[in-house]
Amino acid sequence: MAIDLRSDTVTRPTEAMRRAMARAEVGDDVYGEDPTVRALEERVAGLFGHEAALFTPTGSLANVLAVRTLVGVGQEVLCEARAHIARAELGAHGAVTGLTMRTWSAPDGRPDLAALRELFAPDMGPFFVPTAAISVENSHNFAGGTVVAVDDLRALHAWTRDVGARVHLDGARIWNAHVATGTPLADFGATADVMAVCLSKGLGAPVGSLVVGSADAVAESRVWRKRLGGGMRQSGILAAAGLHALDHHVERLAVDHDHARLLAEACAVDPATVETNIVVVPHHDPASVVAAAREEGVLVGAVGPTALRLVTHLDVDADGAARAAQVLGRLVG
Ligand SMILES: *Cc1c(COP(=O)(O)O)cnc(C)c1O
Repeated sequence: MAIDLRSDTVTRPTEAMRRAMARAEVGDDVYGEDPTVRALEERVAGLFGHEAALFTPTGSLANVLAVRTLVGVGQEVLCEARAHIARAELGAHGAVTGLTMRTWSAPDGRPDLAALRELFAPDMGPFFVPTAAISVENSHNFAGGTVVAVDDLRALHAWTRDVGARVHLDGARIWNAHVATGTPLADFGATADVMAVCLSKGLGAPVGSLVVGSADAVAESRVWRKRLGGGMRQSGILAAAGLHALDHHVERLAVDHDHARLLAEACAVDPATVETNIVVVPHHDPASVVAAAREEGVLVGAVGPTALRLVTHLDVDADGAARAAQVLGRLVG
């Protein structure tokens, strides 16, 4: 079988995860009667030290719901230029919420307080779009899995308190940031007003993300989830996969990070720059590498015309990582 490094979303549920799904207790979650969904929501809220959480089919929906608890019609959210909410959610925040975005650019994707101070727009009445929230992505997908350190998040959070804005954390891969740094999940949680987290990336669940925040934010998100067609019924089958992933697939992310550094080294990228499970390899003709690697059973993605992206995950074992490193080392080097 091919070694698939295009994304950590390609993982298939393990046998043990499928067993956990098969025996999940379920009910109608739109009636609030699915015990497995409730258990997952309570557990994830607790992990991040927030009051409540809401299970959603996708991370994009979790982000839309989460951001809209902070930002209303005609207000703006500031985010990094390559943020998933700005680039990869197909305009949902504008289409659904009626908000606008402005961006700062940082090669590492991290928040830049100096840039934010300049961008920030206080509410001056009916003249300018006011900034309601700052969004941070941790780890940052398109910047190559970079982690925002909790101290920087604390500084950002403190500044937002001063100016009267709030913080959204796109934590699709917050689990990777947690394992890479040892920062407790609750410490990350304490720096955000509302978050979105994914179970379907490195954690290996087939489907599922959550909005995490205050009881009010989650109650509001529950209404909007249903409004947008995301109310699910016996979704405990899916939540069970998430609970299984939390039990068995968090600490092992360290293995993915090791594999990412191995791939980096093979591709002449400094492994010290690889913080989690994503490696960006600069290349003058990525499309040719994508095609040649495919011939040898290694699937990789191109990000634009100047780089390849390699993502490690649960379905790439040590042998697969070694074989991919050998193939890519030869093609890229
Ligand atoms: C994958 C991802 C999401 C959510 O994606 P879905 O495919 O909608 O589940 C959100 N933010 C980031 C940074 C992501 O990588």
